[in-house]
Amino acid sequence: MDASTGPVDRRRTFAIISHPDAGKTTLTEKLLLMGGAIQLAGEVKGKRDRRQTRSDWMGIERERGISVVTSVMTFEYGGRIFNLLDTPGHEDFSEDTYRTLTAVDSAVMVIDAAKGIEDRTRKLFEVCRLRDIPIVTFVNKLDRETRDPFDLLDEIEKVLALDTVPMTWPIGRGRDFAGTYDIIARTVRRIDTDDAVIPVSGPNDPQIDGLTTPEAVASFREEMELIEGAGNGFDTDSFRQGHLTPVYFGSALRNFGVHDLIDALAAFAPSPRPQQAEGRVVEPTEEKMSGFVFKIQANMDPNHRDRIAFLRVCSGKLQRGMKAKLVRTGKPIPLSSPQFFFAQDRLLADEAFAGDVVGIPNHGTLRIGDTLTEGENLVFRGVPSFAPEILRRIRLQDPMKAKKLKEALQQMAEEGVVQVFLPQDGSPAIIGVVGALQLDVLKERMQVEYGLPIDFEPSRFTVCRWVTGTDKDALNMFVERHRSSMASDLDGAPVFMAPSAFELRYELDRAPTITASEIKDYQ
Ligand code: GDP
Repeated sequence: MDASTGPVDRRRTFAIISHPDAGKTTLTEKLLLMGGAIQLAGEVKGKRDRRQTRSDWMGIERERGISVVTSVMTFEYGGRIFNLLDTPGHEDFSEDTYRTLTAVDSAVMVIDAAKGIEDRTRKLFEVCRLRDIPIVTFVNKLDRETRDPFDLLDEIEKVLALDTVPMTWPIGRGRDFAGTYDIIARTVRRIDTDDAVIPVSGPNDPQIDGLTTPEAVASFREEMELIEGAGNGFDTDSFRQGHLTPVYFGSALRNFGVHDLIDALAAFAPSPRPQQAEGRVVEPTEEKMSGFVFKIQANMDPNHRDRIAFLRVCSGKLQRGMKAKLVRTGKPIPLSSPQFFFAQDRLLADEAFAGDVVGIPNHGTLRIGDTLTEGENLVFRGVPSFAPEILRRIRLQDPMKAKKLKEALQQMAEEGVVQVFLPQDGSPAIIGVVGALQLDVLKERMQVEYGLPIDFEPSRFTVCRWVTGTDKDALNMFVERHRSSMASDLDGAPVFMAPSAFELRYELDRAPTITASEIKDYQ
């Protein structure tokens, strides 16, 4: 690190987006290995009976072998501090992923070289685009048969409307794959020696001839002519604005090309960006600490029933022992044991800077979307809630425990596990989720943590929307007229529920001054 680089400039906070099976977990392991954060590959999704790993907290996840929770991993490489925010692979937890993407400054998009852009890659990319998050592309599984790389670039450009600039290029394909050529540095990286690069004079350098079959080398040279002829150079500004993606080729499994990727993040990915709060933009270099909670995680350690709120620091310096203001309540909260996360360990964080993610142990004081400051009444916007796609009523096996159920549900809603809607006619709470597995998680947690066995029943409603209106009288009238279809969410915001999408549309069409929304910011 050069001495002029301050703590904010050194940081890179990013996530990996991909379709399941493209290689996100494998790549995560390799990145952490490179950063020295873990000793052995395989720790991230290790053997079931091995020591519990960060993304393996819950029984349900262990049973199904899926990654349910979002975790944070910090590692150091080349003088930079990387905060990798992991996102759940399963679509049913996409809400969690969207919230996590509010806390990153860049993302790596992993694409399976044989498959190209898949459904979930596209959806996650769209979320990144909404926030202008710059994307570095890693085309994975080059050790196997792949599609034509030009086709893949074409697909990214067409499907995602994102310009591509290849930064490396494969020499040979499938069985003939010998390594990659770095287009700017003019070096070759061989598949069997990822650590070392061989300087060459260009694509025609005779050193390349011996690497693979003459046909493969000839094709490589033709392709390089096309690429160099096209002359699309990499432009950092365009990348940072989210218009262009640099593309790297590699194989996570073979630990190949991962150096290129991490070097790219170090060199081009933005350091912590300014964050939009209500009324003003907060610069990362501002002196006073501020941050927002984008994730709550319970039961990280089965021996301690703790809850951790993940805070993305947006400005200033968070110091252990300081008191921060929880803006929602105006109350001070002591940050006596903020934590950093590594692949296996958590460490007390003595100080953290913009871009860092620290875990704050608490007993339900903090909820998703909360802002912490050193006094200012700032509110960061944009940790969203999505209108659920599944609505259910809860049946409590022991009706005497209704009060306990209410408290437990409130807690689950604050953690973002499920959404809870309280019907205005006083009927039992309705649970909303985006994916059915969230219901399984709720059921298990209610049983294990609160001793409340529950079941789910269909609700007569299937869709809901948050309703607002600038004309308060009209809104009140709407709420009155639809009293039996109205509920309040965690914050008391009015929610209109309907038995079908058709009826929803029908009622809303008759109330033109009412705005119905599928997305709501927390708070
Ligand atoms: P995720 O679902 O995106 O996290 O994908 P994983 O990292 O779990 O990988 C899915 C499968 O692809 C696993 O069987 C990996 O071993 C395999 N895989 C990942 N990267 C590569 C690669 O570069 N080459 C090959 N051949 N297989 C890979």
